[in-house]
Amino acid sequence: MAQRNMDSKKTAMPEQDAKKRAANFEEVALGYTEDMAKNEAMRCLQCKNQPCVAGCPVNVQIPDFIKLIGEGKYVEAYDKIRETNGLPAVCGRVCPQETQCEERCVRGIKGEPVGIGRLERFCSDYAIAKGAKPTECASATGKKAAVIGSGPAGLTCAADLAKAGVDVTVFEAFHIPGGVLVYGIPEFRLPKALVQKEIDALKAMGVKIETDMVMGRVLTIDELKEMGYDTIFIGTGAGLPSFMHIPGENYNGVYSANEFLTRINLMKGYKFPEYDTPVRRHKNLAVIGGGNVAMDSARCAKRLGADNVYIVYRRSEAEMPARNEEIEHAKEEGIVFSFLVSPTAILGNSDGYVTGMTLQKMELGEPDSSGRRRPVPIEGSEYDIELDAVVVAIGQSPNPLLRKATPGLKAQSWGGIIADEQTGATSIEGVYAGGDAVSGAATVILAMGAGKTAAKAMLEYMDKK
Ligand code: FAD
Ligand code: SF4
Ligand code: SF4
Repeated sequence: MAQRNMDSKKTAMPEQDAKKRAANFEEVALGYTEDMAKNEAMRCLQCKNQPCVAGCPVNVQIPDFIKLIGEGKYVEAYDKIRETNGLPAVCGRVCPQETQCEERCVRGIKGEPVGIGRLERFCSDYAIAKGAKPTECASATGKKAAVIGSGPAGLTCAADLAKAGVDVTVFEAFHIPGGVLVYGIPEFRLPKALVQKEIDALKAMGVKIETDMVMGRVLTIDELKEMGYDTIFIGTGAGLPSFMHIPGENYNGVYSANEFLTRINLMKGYKFPEYDTPVRRHKNLAVIGGGNVAMDSARCAKRLGADNVYIVYRRSEAEMPARNEEIEHAKEEGIVFSFLVSPTAILGNSDGYVTGMTLQKMELGEPDSSGRRRPVPIEGSEYDIELDAVVVAIGQSPNPLLRKATPGLKAQSWGGIIADEQTGATSIEGVYAGGDAVSGAATVILAMGAGKTAAKAMLEYMDKK
C-alpha cells in the first residue's frame, strides 16, 4: 500500500470555471481521477474506533471502503458502500457531509477532514460506468407491498422489500419518478441521468413504478388493501410550499421555490421550445430564504440568464442553513447576498406584475427555539429594490392530500404523519411512513434511512401476518 498522505487539506476536486458554469446546467464539480482518489484515500488513518461511521445516518463502513479505494479496488469499494446505502452516487454528491460523516473525522481536528463524500462519489461513478452488477433478490415470497412516493425514502424502501422477494409497486404522482432528486435538486448538482440509472436498477429488481398516480385521489389506502397489498409505505415528502403572507404575494412573477425548480428541472423549462414548458428569463430576481432550496433557486435563475440575482436572508451569513459549499459556489457565480433584511411587501404594477420589493433591515437579538439568534426589525429602516421576479424559498411542509383522504392516519398539527421512530409504523395497521412526510423537510440520507427502517418492519409485519 502507498504511503499515508498527511496533507492537512483535502485533495482538490476539479470544477467547471465559475463564469462558464453560471451559464450552463452541466455539473459543477467534475469528480476525482483515479490518482486523486487514491491520494485522498491515503489521508484516512483507518481509525479503530471509526468516529466517522457514527456520523453517517446509515452507517456506511467508511474506513473499509476507503481502504479498498487505496488498493485500487473501486468496484469492491462501491459494493461495500451499497451494503448499507442504496444510492451512493447521489449521497456522495448531495449529503451534508460537513455535518455528518466528515464532521466526526479525526483529520478534521488539525486540518480538513477526509473527503468521504468525494470518495463515495468517485467509486460509485467508476462502478456505474463499468456497469455495476444487478442486485440479487430472494425468491418470490408471494407478498405484495405498495410504496407511495418515489423520492429517496420510497426508492430505498422499495429496494429493500424487493431484495427480500416482495412484489413491490411504487405509485408516484408526477410523470417521472425520483422525487426531489429529480424535480428539486438541479442538474448542475445532481445529473438526472444518474438518478435514472438508480431507478432502472430498481426496475431490474422487478419493482413496478406507476407514474401519474396521485394517491388519495386516484386510489385510497383502503382501496390498495382491497387490491391485495399486504403492507403500504407512505413516502410522499414535504412538497407544500410556505409563503410569507405579506402584501403582493399574488403578483405575477412571484413563485414558490418548488414551482420554480420543478418548471426548470422536471419540465426542462430552460430547453424550451425543445421541451413544452417555458420559463421566463427575468432580469432582476430575488430569492427569499437561506437554505439549500434558496441557493438552488438563485443559481438556476442565474443560469436562465438573469442579470441580477439576490439572496434575501433575515439573519447573518453565520446562521444560513445552506451547505457552505453551495453558498461558496453561489457567490462565485455572481449571486448577490443581502443579509439581515426581511421583505415587508412585494410591489407590483396595475397589470399585476412584480416591480419590486420593500425590505426592512434587521439586527440579531437573543437565540430563539432553534438556537439561532432571532432577527429583530429595525424601525424606520425600510427601503425598496427593483425586481421583476421573486422566488419564495422559506420552507415546505408535508403534502396534505393523502393524509386528508385517509381517515385514521394520525398527524402532527403542522402536517407531519405520526410514525414510530424505530419502525415507521403509523396509526393504521400495516401502513408505514418515513422521510420528509414524517420529519418535515430534512435530507436525502435521513429519508433513505427511514425507508430502510420501515422496510425491515414491513417484512417482519408480513412474516407475522
Ligand atoms: P421526496 O423526495 O419529496 O419524494 C416524495 C415523492 O412523493 C415525490 O416524488 C412526490 O411527487 C410524491 N408524492 C407526493 N404526494 C403523493 C401522492 N399523493 N401520491 C403519489 N405520490 C406522491 N437534501 C440533501 O441531503 N442534500 C441536498 O443538497 C438537498 N438539496 C435540496 C434541494 C431542494 C431544492 C430541495 C427541495 C430539497 C433538498 N434536499 C436536500 C432535501 C431532500 O431532497 C429531501 O429531504 C428528500 O428528497 C426527502 O425524500 P422523500 O423521499 O421523503 O421525499
Ligand atoms: Fe457520508 Fe452521506 Fe456517505 Fe454517510 S451516506 S458516508 S453521511 S456521504
Ligand atoms: Fe478515516 Fe477520518 Fe474515519 Fe479516521 S475518522 S477512519 S481518518 S475517515
